[in-house]
Amino acid sequence: MAVSFSLRVLLLTCLGLGFAAVGLAQPAPTLTVAVMPVGKVWRPGAVVRVEVRATAPITRVDGTVHGQPVTFVVAADGRSARGLVGLGADLAPGDYEIAVRGDTGSGGAGVEGSATLTVAKAVFRSQTLRVDPRFVQPPKDELPRIEKERAHLAELSHHVDREHPWSAPFSAPLDSAVTESYGTRRTFNGELASQHRGVDLKGAMGTPIAAPGAGRVVLAEELYYTGNTVVIDHGAGVVSLLAHMSHIGVKVGDAVDTGAIVGEVGATGRVTGPHLHWSAWVGGTSIDPMSLIAAINAVSKNQGNPTRQPRERKKRVASAAAPKPLSMLTTARPLAQLVSMPSSAARPLKLAP
Ligand SMILES: [Zn+2]
Repeated sequence: MAVSFSLRVLLLTCLGLGFAAVGLAQPAPTLTVAVMPVGKVWRPGAVVRVEVRATAPITRVDGTVHGQPVTFVVAADGRSARGLVGLGADLAPGDYEIAVRGDTGSGGAGVEGSATLTVAKAVFRSQTLRVDPRFVQPPKDELPRIEKERAHLAELSHHVDREHPWSAPFSAPLDSAVTESYGTRRTFNGELASQHRGVDLKGAMGTPIAAPGAGRVVLAEELYYTGNTVVIDHGAGVVSLLAHMSHIGVKVGDAVDTGAIVGEVGATGRVTGPHLHWSAWVGGTSIDPMSLIAAINAVSKNQGNPTRQPRERKKRVASAAAPKPLSMLTTARPLAQLVSMPSSAARPLKLAP
């Protein structure tokens, strides 16, 4: 096609002006939110991995699912973030929208995105157990202690430590079979009904128990229901509890790596025999700890985030670290504020063996 020289000059000038205009007005940054793996239907108790990518650097990312806060960990390059959503055991089936907002650090409106996660009906089995009657009808003089411990655990399990976010790898605290899964509905001595908020792992008395992930020990003492107990804060809203130990091998303030020995299997508290009970929370919601392992390990594989190298198990000792001052702690919004997303953590914490 013949185009006159003057027309070509005019066209090039217009194109040049067009580029100049684009250069002056930056394209609006966008946020892509994905629930991983894409298309998976989730069950109550699961931990859902959410990945966020941004076209402009982001300094902080926050999310909500029906008012429940979701904490995101921003990657070093500021272009991506990963978050975990804990689906409570009581979560109703349906589609839930995750609304995400990224802060671009400019003090502006930030950038927003969303994704939908689909939850199916829960399938939990039932079980009847016989335990010492004092764990079904606690003596009156133990009630203040029980309430104090319940409140303390609720506080620890809702803690969101943004300064020391969780990192892979995660692994089960014992290399053994799950003898009771998460969510089992139980009746104790034919009268007390509760739900199993954790997993039981098979273990003989005295077997060393490994930290399931890196973190800080925030509780190491004997509790009424869970016996000798260690609570590890893995950071960014992920918290573990290891129960019924015969011996506790760490103290509050210790920093532990994945696999560090934190105690030994025992039969203290409300138990029918020696085993390890492992509970875990994400954003204050009690979830299936086994689901946490897959969610955290998959994040590091897919996004190339820094992963601590797993070292040989059962040989490490915890290193001492200064206890964190309480003023540094931030707490997620209480889940009791939830309206439409029933959460296990909105109720009093029930810890069954
Ligand atoms: Zn248990």
